[in-house]
Amino acid sequence: MKLSFTTYRIFLKHTFGISRSSNNWYDIVLIFLQDGEIIARGEAAPSLRYNESTEKILSILNRGIILPDDSSITIDDMLVCVYNQLDNIKSLQAAFSMAIWDWWSQKNNKPLFDLLGYKRKVLPHTSFTIAIGNINDIEKKIEEAKPYDILKVKLGTPNKDKEIIKEIRKYTDKMIRVDANEGWDYVTALDMCKWLSDQNVEFIEQPFPAEELEKSKKLTKLSPLDIYADENSMLSRDIEQIKSSFDGINIKLMKCGSIEEAIVMIKEAKKNGLKIMLGCMVETSIGITAASHLASEVDKIDLDGNLLIKNDPYSGVRIVNGRLVIPNLNGLGIKLKFKHDNLL
Ligand SMILES: [Mg+2]
Repeated sequence: MKLSFTTYRIFLKHTFGISRSSNNWYDIVLIFLQDGEIIARGEAAPSLRYNESTEKILSILNRGIILPDDSSITIDDMLVCVYNQLDNIKSLQAAFSMAIWDWWSQKNNKPLFDLLGYKRKVLPHTSFTIAIGNINDIEKKIEEAKPYDILKVKLGTPNKDKEIIKEIRKYTDKMIRVDANEGWDYVTALDMCKWLSDQNVEFIEQPFPAEELEKSKKLTKLSPLDIYADENSMLSRDIEQIKSSFDGINIKLMKCGSIEEAIVMIKEAKKNGLKIMLGCMVETSIGITAASHLASEVDKIDLDGNLLIKNDPYSGVRIVNGRLVIPNLNGLGIKLKFKHDNLL
């Protein structure tokens, strides 16, 4: 089996503003495993919030990754052997998890969800993100969001949060999910939860900085809207600590570092009565399609990262009437859309 990798710059259709940052592009790292006719793919979308970068990822990859060449190896042994070489960089681990599962399920002539024992079913609607930006662009963004039934609105601005929602409400009464990305203090959060509860809002994501867990606990008790953890919900082992501070969690492959860990998180969350959303970073169709294979097992879907970029080189999961449709192909079901240096 041959490993290759490349960086790729993804450009946003609109500046992607959240409470703590604003970006027009991100660099991601794509990895490829070639085994005879099989091309398996994975994506690392590193986040500065979690101290990750393409530079760190490239330094690990350039060091060389040893892939086991024993043909009788189990997939579990293969995954562990590779993860041990990745310095605990979760997005890179996620890339290898995707690629190894893509390879394994293509080898077994099955789509990944089928191999994992999940049934093909009609999936919930995905939300579509309206990031923080120029308030005058909102009308156009709402027009672009027409195919999607739920909006995910980024808030956590110094003073403009209500103004943003009021502007959106001039054009649509669609359901809104609010993501404050750790941007609120306690007084603002309580006021916003009450005010937003009359605005057809489904829930609020991560109101406070992750280290302020006690505030989330207090707010979750008082808020008329559900409160979801994102920056507080990285791994399955976090669930015990945060379960009484939130109503639900946002699971992302790039945070938890593997398809297997996401599955453990889904099980743990269900056991503890937490609602589950499957989310993403800004990613190409590789990362989004990989996550979509778990979508039948969760309550809410927020897999729109590939829809926000101009130059997604791959096709995979599609959106039909606002819902994800997983490709009818073996493996992840990814295809390269256009030829580009180093992309397979
Ligand atoms: Mg979030």
